[in-house]
Order: sequence, then structure tokens, then C-alpha cells
Amino acid sequence: MIFEYAPAPESRSVVGLRQTYDLFIDGEFVPAQGGEYVTSLNPADEEELAQVAVAGAADVDRAVAAARRAQETVWGRMSGAERGKYLFRIARIIQERSRELAVLETLDNGKPIKETRDVDVPLVAAHFFYYAGWADKLAHAGFGPNPRPLGVAAQVIPWNFPLLMLAWKIAPALATGNTVVLKPAETTPLTALVFAQICQEAELPPGVVNILTGAGETGRALVEHPGTDKVAFTGSTEVGRQIARSVAGTDKRLTLELGGKGANIVYDDAAIDQAVEGVVTGIFFNQGHVCCAGSRLLIQESIAEEFLPRLKARVAKLRLGDPLDKNTDIGAINSAAQLERIRELTDTADEEGVERWSPARDLPESGYWFAPTVLTGVSQAHRVAREEIFGPVLSVLTFRTPEEAVTKANNTPYGLSAGVWTEKGSRMLWTAERLRAGVIWSNTFNKFDPTSPFGGYKESGYGREGGRHGLEAYLG
Ligand code: NAP
Ligand code: MG
Repeated sequence: MIFEYAPAPESRSVVGLRQTYDLFIDGEFVPAQGGEYVTSLNPADEEELAQVAVAGAADVDRAVAAARRAQETVWGRMSGAERGKYLFRIARIIQERSRELAVLETLDNGKPIKETRDVDVPLVAAHFFYYAGWADKLAHAGFGPNPRPLGVAAQVIPWNFPLLMLAWKIAPALATGNTVVLKPAETTPLTALVFAQICQEAELPPGVVNILTGAGETGRALVEHPGTDKVAFTGSTEVGRQIARSVAGTDKRLTLELGGKGANIVYDDAAIDQAVEGVVTGIFFNQGHVCCAGSRLLIQESIAEEFLPRLKARVAKLRLGDPLDKNTDIGAINSAAQLERIRELTDTADEEGVERWSPARDLPESGYWFAPTVLTGVSQAHRVAREEIFGPVLSVLTFRTPEEAVTKANNTPYGLSAGVWTEKGSRMLWTAERLRAGVIWSNTFNKFDPTSPFGGYKESGYGREGGRHGLEAYLG
């Protein structure tokens, strides 16, 4: 007898959605001067959730001026201990409103409630707690006896972890005495706007945090604005390149967190069931919309035959569907545009003769969905082995020797993450030492912690976020 899971939907009544949301500038919600709005959708069913203001150049001017004033007159002069109190307060309010934030993030982004509730939102609170603790200890952080804030930071974030990327950007900036103007992604602005309400609730001085919603043009106006001292960007390598060009020749500081094509290396002595589980979370967590996803499985040839059926059996058990259902493992693809990108890239795999497998199942009729997919017979030259798909698609390659594993893992323009699965400590260290990736997990994957720095090599960007290292990007 097979026991099926009964539906277990989380209630959305905890979220009080407004019809329209304005920009958050100088401590208040104000309409955009151009009067334009865009719709944010729920990608799981294409329901319109809210209208969100589009900031133009004049709004960017206002926000940057407010941030400058706040930095020079209040925030930059405040003692670290005082700043820390505000950050602790924000962290506590995030915890208090965690259910609301988790449900809203799931509605706006399409990711499963299990993840927003157990991963995103707790990590967001943890980041604010962690950096709150640094605010009065900066003189002991190893950046000289009196490290100074840079001033005003322009921050642009993507849609894959909307609130978590906001926390990665805002918490260290504020702890170090900077003020910020942040632009969330067009498709996922809603939790950033609730965060603005949280800043009001915490009585954060006006202008310390400003949130400008809008699309790519708003982001461009913000990063190109001459009145900021620092640009922090997470998103595609292509936009990252444009930003690097626009910042070149100015005295602004820049950090870029870009794409990845992480390798998960499984040696023949690895604990197979744990490795299967780790490979599955490595690529199917958050629908594969993860820059550090383990999107390339490198499996030692001698165990490939045993490993792949077990992997597929596990993937076949993943539950895809309503993101608000507490049993859902795989939610919706964030937007029609992203779904199109995933389709386009996986279609090239068909043309190149790669073998494609997905568990047999129907996808929901409305919304944006892509079945978990395993590609075998992939070689280094295939596009799916080289380009970031940013979706639930795993490319499987094999290797014979550790040297070959390392060469293949490093054969990418990216260098953000990697995983190594082996029972042998010496082999793990030997491999990790040779991998060109910012984060290397061993016998685990996708572990995030505010105390641990994160960032890339090569086209994955530069600078580190998180941990003590993350302070450096905001100190002069
Ligand atoms: P994207 O265009 O780089 O978007 C990231 C952020 O930059 C968004 O807030 C975006 O605004 C904004 N933006 C767009 N054009 C800009 C410009 N010229 N100047 C300043 N800001 C700009 O990424 P995407 O189109 O959402 O996704 C494309 C691909 O990027 C994905 O398929 C994936 O490969 C990669 N990606 C990587 C990450 C990561 O975590 N490293 C995250 C997301 C995407 P709008 O959203 O309003 O356009
Ligand atoms: Mg949305």
C-alpha cells in the first residue's frame, strides 16, 4: 500500500498585501515621480499580487541625497554600539514577522514554503544578528584601529533569494556605518518593501535604508549615479560586466557576485546515499535558481552505473507543485523569461545528442514550471556543461582519476562553488586545494552561514560577502 501525502497548504492570510506599493525614500513611502507601476506576479499561478512603483532618475537622485544626508549627519556619527542596537532590533522584528515574510516570499518568488520558512528567513535574521554583533567591534576586526565607512552604497540584487540577498547587502553596510539605496529585482520586490516597513517599525533613522523598486533601467540609473561611494551587485555576469565598465575610472568601490557552474565531484569511496542526497539538494534546491548550485555532477566512472539509477529514483520522489504546500520540494520557475532561458538551453542538449531524463509527471497548467531534469552523456564541449542554466537541470559527466576530476571541475569560466564527496580526508583536502572555487563543501552542499565568507573567482565575480571578510567591502 502506498501512502500519499495529503495537501498541507500554508495559509496566506498572514500576509496583508496592498494593491500598490510606493518607493521607500528617507523613511517614507512616496510615489515615483514618473507615476509608473509594474505588476508583480505569483509565478506559480500567474496571479497579479500587487502594483509596484518604478523609480526613475529623479527618484534615484532623491534617494541618494537622503542616504547621503543620513550618513553624514546621523548614521556615520553614531557609535557602533548604537548602530548595533538598531540592527538587533531589525533582526528581532524579522523573527517576529518570519511567517509573514516566508509566505510573502513564496508567493512572490515561487519557491517552496519549506525553504523560505526553514532556510531563507532564518538566515536573513541570522545575518542581521551576526552583523549587529560586529557593529561595536570594528576596531578589532583586523582592518586597522579606526576603520571608516565608505559612505553611500548602491546595491542591486536578483530574484532568486530576494530577502536573503537584501540581508547580505544591507546588514554589513549598516553595521559599518554606511547608508544604502537598494534595488530589488522587478519580479520579487515585495519582501523588500515589507523590510522597509520593518525599518520604520525599528525606528531606523530616515534615509539610512532606501528601497527603489523598478526594472533593469532603475538598476542602471542607480549604479551609474555619481553620488554613491560603493556599488554592490548580485546577478548575471553580463550585467556585472556592464556595471564594472560603468564604475571603471570612478573612485567607487565595487563588489560583484555573479554566476556559477559548480561541480559536485563524487569519488568511488563516497557514501553513496549521502552523496545522492547532496547532489539532489545541490541542484534542485530553489529550483536550481542558485548561483552556487552544483549543476555539474562529476562522478567517478567505476560507480556511475550504480549511482545514476539511485539518483534518478531519488529525483522521481521530489514533489513538484504548489509552493505554499509544506510538502513541496520543487516550486515554480520565477518568471516566463527565466523559463524560456532554461528551455532554450536544455533544447540545445537535445540537438547535441545529450540524453535527457525527467520523472514522468504532469506539470501544473498555469504558472511557470520545469520538471527536474538529469542530462547524461554530457561532455565538456556541450553548452549545458559550460553555460549556467539557472534551473532544475543537472549535467552528468564522468572521470577516472582525481587529476581528471580537478581538470574538468576547473574547466569553466566560473569559480563560485564546488562539492567533494569522499570518505578519505586526504583526498578531500588534495582536491579542495586544487579547485578554483570560492566555496568548497565536503560531504555536504549549499550550507550557508553568516560567519562564512562567500564569493567567486574568475567570471563569478570579486569581493566577499559574509563573515568578517564581508565587512571589508564596506570599510575605507
Ligand atoms: P540580471 O539581469 O543580472 O538581474 C539582477 C539585478 O540587476 C536585477 O535587480 C535587475 O533588475 C538588475 N539589472 C538588470 N539590468 C541592469 C543594469 N543594466 N544595470 C543595473 N542593474 C540591472 O539577472 P536576470 O536577468 O534576472 O537573470 C539572468 C541570468 O542571470 C540568470 O539566468 C542567471 O544565470 C543569472 N543570475 C545569477 C544570479 C546570482 O545569484 N548570481 C541571480 C540571478 C540571475 P530587474 O530584475 O528588474 O531586471
Ligand atoms: Mg513576483
